[in-house]
Amino acid sequence: MKIDNLPKRVIINFTKKCALNCEWCYVHFDSQSISRDKLIAVIERVSYLGFDSITFGGGDPFQYKYLSTVITKTKELGLFVHIDTHAITLSESYENAVLLENSVDLIGLPLDGSTRHIHDLMRSSVGHYKIIKNKLEWIKSHDISIKLNTIVSSVNKEDLKNLSKLILNLQPVRWSIYQFWPVGPATKSASKHILEDKEFLEGIRKIDFRAFENITTIEVNTAESRRSTYPILNHNGEVYIHHEYPTDGFQYVGSIFDKGILAKIGTLCNQEREQATSRYIENKNVRKAYSK
Ligand code: SF4
Repeated sequence: MKIDNLPKRVIINFTKKCALNCEWCYVHFDSQSISRDKLIAVIERVSYLGFDSITFGGGDPFQYKYLSTVITKTKELGLFVHIDTHAITLSESYENAVLLENSVDLIGLPLDGSTRHIHDLMRSSVGHYKIIKNKLEWIKSHDISIKLNTIVSSVNKEDLKNLSKLILNLQPVRWSIYQFWPVGPATKSASKHILEDKEFLEGIRKIDFRAFENITTIEVNTAESRRSTYPILNHNGEVYIHHEYPTDGFQYVGSIFDKGILAKIGTLCNQEREQATSRYIENKNVRKAYSK
């Protein structure tokens, strides 16, 4: 089954728990247990419905021992595999190295400040900056495309220029910059982090985009550009989307196993935003080039 004009990507969030507690996290943690077989069934269903990319995120995917089996299965189904991780539970093991090199197309890590102080403040976690720097070193020693993710809020907006210099040194294939978006649970921290579009774009203009040419693709995501662009699943296959403007919450769509779920998703979601689409094309090409 394949229907055009539908989003081609889903996000699967592990909503049981997370080791971090970021103030602007949009994930609804629900303590629901996770079974490997159920998760594989969700992925098979996603593939059957015609989606071609999965972003695994939310409470960190690497906290689950069977992640390797799940990711390998996802790759066997021919899907583009993107994992976002806070890196705390990403152990530098031989198994993870093999997994990343063979079955993961893109790995995303957070970097929200040019200094330990700013990054740790944004992530509400002392020592997290050091973990990210160390894990980046390890990941870079393997054949895997890296995406760095930055949330920009009123707390770190003045740091964007310095952060861009650090990112340029690190040379990820992609740098995704997200304007703070008070959606879902993140609405609680709106008064602290809110950043108007104008201020966000003023910060973006301080980045020397030309310096990144042929090194890193920069993806600038305003808050509203993310609304209704992809379905968000939890690990049990419950499907949500961002509510229509101006509601800052999530709408439950149904289970991925429901008959007619694709049509529902089609009426509620638009296609992937243009600036994100190339993640799944460019990086596929990078991997092809590596494997020749
Ligand atoms: S690491 Fe990700 S999932 Fe965990 S709290 Fe932070 S934003 Fe949410």
